[in-house]
Amino acid sequence: MVPTLKTIHVTETYLPDIQKYQQYVERIFETKIVTNNGVLVCELQERLEKYLGVKHVLVVSNGTAALQIAYKLLDLKGEVITTPFSFVATTSSLVWEGLKPIFADIDPLSFNMDAKNIEKLITENTSAIVPVHVFGNACEVETIEEIANRHQLKVIYDAAHAFNVNYKGKSVLKYGDLSILSFHATKLFHTIEGGALIIDDDEQYLQAKKMINFGIDADAYGGSIEALGINAKMNEFQAAMGLCILDDIDTIEKERKLVYEYYKENLQDHLQLQKYNSNAEMNYSYFPVLFDSEESLLKVASQLNVENIFPRRYFYPSLDLLPYLEKSKTQPVSDDISKRVLCLPLYYGLEQKIQKKIVDIILNTLKELHPSKKVLDK
Ligand SMILES: *Cc1c(COP(=O)(O)O)cnc(C)c1O
Repeated sequence: MVPTLKTIHVTETYLPDIQKYQQYVERIFETKIVTNNGVLVCELQERLEKYLGVKHVLVVSNGTAALQIAYKLLDLKGEVITTPFSFVATTSSLVWEGLKPIFADIDPLSFNMDAKNIEKLITENTSAIVPVHVFGNACEVETIEEIANRHQLKVIYDAAHAFNVNYKGKSVLKYGDLSILSFHATKLFHTIEGGALIIDDDEQYLQAKKMINFGIDADAYGGSIEALGINAKMNEFQAAMGLCILDDIDTIEKERKLVYEYYKENLQDHLQLQKYNSNAEMNYSYFPVLFDSEESLLKVASQLNVENIFPRRYFYPSLDLLPYLEKSKTQPVSDDISKRVLCLPLYYGLEQKIQKKIVDIILNTLKELHPSKKVLDK
């Protein structure tokens, strides 16, 4: 009898020791405080501030809400220069907030917004730059900062992939006016659903704290309504998950590094890999590979699917092609990369025998596709 194959997805949510989670849940049941800046949310924020080495962490309901709050907090208007190669939320959150995304094409090696493309897109309507450290690869933060200063633009980093990434020895989250994180279940560190704003400025932090709670200053007597706000609070059950996972995060990263290195060793001579910023550390959150053509990608993906292995086309299509956007000039590099990039399964607990199978399928399929030539000319 053939045993049924376990389905392998691009990621698998890390779940902590259930007893540990239960202990936190018991605390919630004792106090009956389930949300509204409860003790676990406060504890998580403090521990994240220390762990990440940043001034203020304000946890919120999800990463998209964090982006929306950030745009409001910095009072963005008109046009915002952003990357076309990201998860849809980077662009959709801008559009949702009435802002116009203007795309700066990416660098074909780093997959990040190419800072060289920013300046020519700046007009009198530009208010900000929203870059993404895509797959945890730090952007050219100093060049971006210099451009933003020269033109008096705000910079908000969508750092959804950049949990625990240091640039020149300090957190990359300290760059820009502020950064946001996503703590969605698919991310390196998660709170089931969740996210955070990383804020350096004390005033802005206090303002953001009100914004996520209907504009109410919870510290004032009776809670006075002081500004326009919305509801973007994280609850105590989410924070409990985060606290459990934070205990394990170093172990998680160590094991992900092994998975990453196995792929790298076995695939780097056959496929193009993402070029990492040499001034930054990696967090092993994704393993993107670049094929020579979309046909090769589709062929390899379908061969993996036969074995119940499901890599993901992160990110496809290029965001400038979203159906709800005004047609703009296509971004040729982003369009090309998005058609050829595939993220391989990478998570804590991925067995090496599965990895070997993935590597074998990829290499065999490439051989069938290109019987005579070496796939990557080095
Ligand atoms: C996951 C993600 C988001 C959105 O985060 P959510 O917590 O799912 O709302 C935003 N930007 C990028 C680049 C992401 O990968």
